[in-house]
Amino acid sequence: MLLFLIIFIVKQKKYKHVDHTEVIRKILKIEAPFNLTMEYSKQHAAVCGLYCPACSVFIGTQEDPQRLEFIAKQSNSIPEEIKCYGCRSEKRFIFCEQDCKMFPCAQEKGIDFCGECEEYPCNDIKEFQAKMPHRLELWEAQERIKKVGYEEWLEEMEKHYSCPECDTINSTYDPRCRSCGHVPCNQYNAIHGKEILDFFSKPNSK
Ligand code: SF4
Ligand code: SF4
Ligand SMILES: [Zn+2]
Repeated sequence: MLLFLIIFIVKQKKYKHVDHTEVIRKILKIEAPFNLTMEYSKQHAAVCGLYCPACSVFIGTQEDPQRLEFIAKQSNSIPEEIKCYGCRSEKRFIFCEQDCKMFPCAQEKGIDFCGECEEYPCNDIKEFQAKMPHRLELWEAQERIKKVGYEEWLEEMEKHYSCPECDTINSTYDPRCRSCGHVPCNQYNAIHGKEILDFFSKPNSK
């Protein structure tokens, strides 16, 4: 009976704009891996144009302690110290906290996103963007946020980073969906898979 109810809800077009995983979780009284009502919060739309819920540290913090532990080991740290709740949150990843130039700079200028800045794109964000393949779409992100607003952009990103099979949000670097194993794990990975592979096959890549 419950199964039919779930299938019915998922199939209803009127629920198209409702996160059906949230509806299912409510019915089954399962605690959400992260607060899905937060998905349209500015907290998760980074100043630099990254989508925080698709960051491996964010996923680890919210729902994957093993992942967090692995990242902590790689960073010579402990899980508690590297936890991150998003770019604009009180608790951010070590890099974001200590090395990010964009966040404090935007704060000083009184703007929300680098794309609003007269100096954009400055050397700081250019250098940042060029270093890692999960930053390939920062320019598009800034343009899109300017055009449609961060709320709509966040909705687009949720789809962009979700598994086409089961809707789980995966990180840029997940080789397969962390829930159902689907390859590619999301649209970002499907588009940039080769650049990601090339980056990690370089001798000096992290
Ligand atoms: S703190 Fe800086 S690097 Fe980290 S997500 Fe925010 S703007 Fe990007
Ligand atoms: S100067 Fe650069 S880092 Fe600072 S807000 Fe403008 S674009 Fe962002
Ligand atoms: Zn999946």
